[in-house]
Amino acid sequence: MSEYDVIVVGGGNAAFCAALAAAEKGASVLVLEAAPEDEAGGNSAFTAGAMRVVYNGVDDIKALVPDLSDDEIAITDFGTYTQDQFFDDMARVTQYRTDPDLCELLVTKSLPTLLWMREKGIRFVPIYGRQAFKVDGKFKFWGGLTVETVGGGPGLVEMLTTSAKKHGVEIRYETRAIDLLCEGNKVNGVRVRHENEISEIKGKSVVLASGGFEANTEWRTRYLGPGWDMAKVRGSRFNTGEGIRMALEIGASPMGNWSGCHAVGWEMNAPEFGDLAVGDQFQKHSYPFALMVNAKGERFVDEGADFRNYTYAKYGRVILNQPGQFAWQIFDAKTKHLQRDEYNIRQCTKVTANTIEELAKKLEGVDADAFVKTIAEYNAAVNQDTAFNPNVKDGKRTTGLAIDKTNWANTIDTAPFEGYATTYGVTFTFGGLSVNNDAQVMNLDYKPIEGLFAAGELVGGIFYFNYPGGTGLTSGSVFGKIAGEAAAG
Ligand SMILES: Cc1cc2nc3c(=O)[nH]c(=O)nc-3n(C[C@H](O)[C@H](O)[C@H](O)COP(=O)(O)OP(=O)(O)OC[C@H]3O[C@@H](n4cnc5c(N)ncnc54)[C@H](O)[C@@H]3O)c2cc1C
Repeated sequence: MSEYDVIVVGGGNAAFCAALAAAEKGASVLVLEAAPEDEAGGNSAFTAGAMRVVYNGVDDIKALVPDLSDDEIAITDFGTYTQDQFFDDMARVTQYRTDPDLCELLVTKSLPTLLWMREKGIRFVPIYGRQAFKVDGKFKFWGGLTVETVGGGPGLVEMLTTSAKKHGVEIRYETRAIDLLCEGNKVNGVRVRHENEISEIKGKSVVLASGGFEANTEWRTRYLGPGWDMAKVRGSRFNTGEGIRMALEIGASPMGNWSGCHAVGWEMNAPEFGDLAVGDQFQKHSYPFALMVNAKGERFVDEGADFRNYTYAKYGRVILNQPGQFAWQIFDAKTKHLQRDEYNIRQCTKVTANTIEELAKKLEGVDADAFVKTIAEYNAAVNQDTAFNPNVKDGKRTTGLAIDKTNWANTIDTAPFEGYATTYGVTFTFGGLSVNNDAQVMNLDYKPIEGLFAAGELVGGIFYFNYPGGTGLTSGSVFGKIAGEAAAG
């Protein structure tokens, strides 16, 4: 029987960061990936690779992106994203429920961890366009999200895989961990299924990094509640909660917001699970510059409550709660140029029209008369004295509506008009396992289970209710590195 120092369950960002950290300490490391090689990389492969990281100015960005040119620096206001800003964002969006110890690790170790990833061969670039618009000749970054990995999520997984192989990590694809092996109270390996054969692999310690339960329709219904069975899964079909189940079965403690998840507005006719050829492009994230209406032809949320990064992850649930579980996003010609690239894909459910009345008839499932009235009332309520600026919360708002739009409120009056149909797509689940500051999984008495570590989506206690964009990958990297180092002993 083969034996390793560290067995890592999962093949996404958290898993590879754990594997690289363990290998750096001299451990022999095996990565088990349930997916075949062409679908490997979990949700990490579906991302844009955007990573939330603390930086105190352009020098820190330059350390992450050494080939940033002087010309780029001259036309860019990177601002800062300090530890205090990151803490504030985490506290605010989680309604002060984030675990203080885990949050502190996430925030304080974000920059050192990304710099360590750079040493391991992961390259980053600034997110021009999506996270900074050019206004008066200058880009200004907003919302604490400034760098992404080269090649997005697929690039990240490829760079991590290459680096892991270079550092001697063995990877077995299509190998699903199905149980943890224990000797007394200590975990000492995993039982796996590969091509319908069951076998056992011994390891001095095991790191679980196999994602949440977002791709498990039964668990979604059981824990998130009615309606979540119908959610489109934005990413990997392999994240079915197996890692969480295996740990709970040997007495691990559950932790965090088990009824909560990250879910967004997502193309109405997207497939059941993510499609790597499309990646994250089924999302429709330019709604702060649009209006959203439901089947009643009514607005139902403040589209401009905050930067997209701080609202998108909770608006999926808001769409689930609308009649028929859909929403149309409405744009006119004035803000069309601000649409993200995902509005240009072939697989959009999109209608266009030259008048609001004509558009109303084309919005399938929507009360047309009520929609026309909604637009007229909205237009009349827009404050025309405040200047529109997409780079800041501009305060250009409506007043007097049942639900006001509090930033970026432009009138919808310039043809051509466009509508995009969305439903809700689940990204990942918030509930998971309890871990301590060394990423050791805790038992029901809140004592560490010897030999068992966890990182990434399946760690509970970090996110509640909502989530600041770009934190999932950073969390996987920070806790993956901690877990890998600790597991290597
Ligand atoms: C469309 C989309 C876009 C996103 N964009 C961003 C973004 O830009 N920035 C950001 O920070 N976050 C983003 N996220 C969230 C991000 O993907 C996750 O937070 C992060 O990738 C989680 O990493 P992970 O390693 O924990 O899990 P994953 O990357 O999902 O890895 C889990 C792995 O475990 C494997 N696995 C599951 N069960 C088993 C088993 N029993 N045995 C063996 N292997 C198993 C899976 O195949 C997979 O390889 C996005 C998510 C989606 C779906």
